[in-house]
Amino acid sequence: MQPFIATHIEALQQTLLGIVQKGQRVALVPTMGALHQGHLALIDHAKTLADIVVVSIFVNPTQFGPNEDFNKYPRNLEQDAKLAQSSGATLIYAPAVEDLYPDDFSTNVSAGPITQILCGQFRPGHFDGVATIVSKLLLRVLPHVAVFGEKDYQQLCVIRRVTDDLDIPVDIVGFPTVREADGLALSSRNRYLNDEQRNIAPKLHETLQFVKNDILSGKHSVQDSINAAVSTLSNYGYRLDYLALCDGQTLAPLNRAQEDARLLVAAWLGDTRLIDNIPLE
Ligand code: AMP
Repeated sequence: MQPFIATHIEALQQTLLGIVQKGQRVALVPTMGALHQGHLALIDHAKTLADIVVVSIFVNPTQFGPNEDFNKYPRNLEQDAKLAQSSGATLIYAPAVEDLYPDDFSTNVSAGPITQILCGQFRPGHFDGVATIVSKLLLRVLPHVAVFGEKDYQQLCVIRRVTDDLDIPVDIVGFPTVREADGLALSSRNRYLNDEQRNIAPKLHETLQFVKNDILSGKHSVQDSINAAVSTLSNYGYRLDYLALCDGQTLAPLNRAQEDARLLVAAWLGDTRLIDNIPLE
C-alpha cells in the first residue's frame, strides 16, 4: 500500500476530522525527514499512545542559521514515507515551505531564557524557529499527544515550556535516545562524518558516561570532572561548544549532583556538530 502523504492543510485536516469524529486518539511525531531508527522508535512508541500516528516531515528553514546546513540537509520524501509507514505511521504530513511560511508571515514564538543557553548560545534564533514551527504543527494537527526524542534534550524542554505557557492542549512525551551499538546517538547528520570522524564519534557518549561516573563517585568536583572531559575530547579532535551539568527541566547550570540532573554536550568534528546528553542517575 502507498503511504498516504498530505501536502496541503485541507487534505490533512479532512483526514483528521474523520479520525477524530470516530473518537480516535491522534499522535504527532514531528521530524525533518532523513528518517533513521531513532525516528522510527518514536513512531513505534507513538503507536502505543494513540490510535493513529501522524508523522510530519518538514525541513524547517527558520531553525537553521545563515551558515548552517539547510541546503545540504538530506531530503528523500518517498523513502521516508515508506519507512514511516512500515513503522506504523497512518499519515505523513509534508507541507511546502510557502504553505507554512507565506510571504506575509511575521510571528515568532520565543520561549525566553531557556532558549539562550547551551545550544541557544551557539545557534542564535534556532529555538525560536523550533518553537514557532512546532506550535504551528501542533495547531494544524491538534494531536492528543506528541512524541519527541531526548536526543534533542533542550528542544524537548523548550517545547514543554511553549505548550505549557501557551496552553496548547497536548501531552508532550519524551523518548530515550536511540544509539548505534558503539554508543553514538543516531542522527540524520551522522552521514556527514568521514570514516575517521565516525571512529571518533562514539567518544562523545563514552566521555559523558565517564563524567557521570566520576561525578557520582564524589571524588572530584563537577567542574573538575567537566574540565578533564573537555580536555579528553579536545585531544580526540573535538571542538567543544559546551559540556555542562544542568537541571533536567529548567536546564539551569549545576555545580553539584542532584536528582533529575542531566549532562549535555555539543561538539564539532570537522564541519559536523554533534550533540548528546545523558541523565546523571
Ligand atoms: P529531526 O528529524 O532530527 O528534527 O528529529 C525529529 C525527532 O526525532 C526529534 O524529536 C528528535 O529528538 C528525534 N530523534 C532524532 N534522533 C533521535 C535518536 N537517536 N533517538 C531518539 N530520538 C531521536
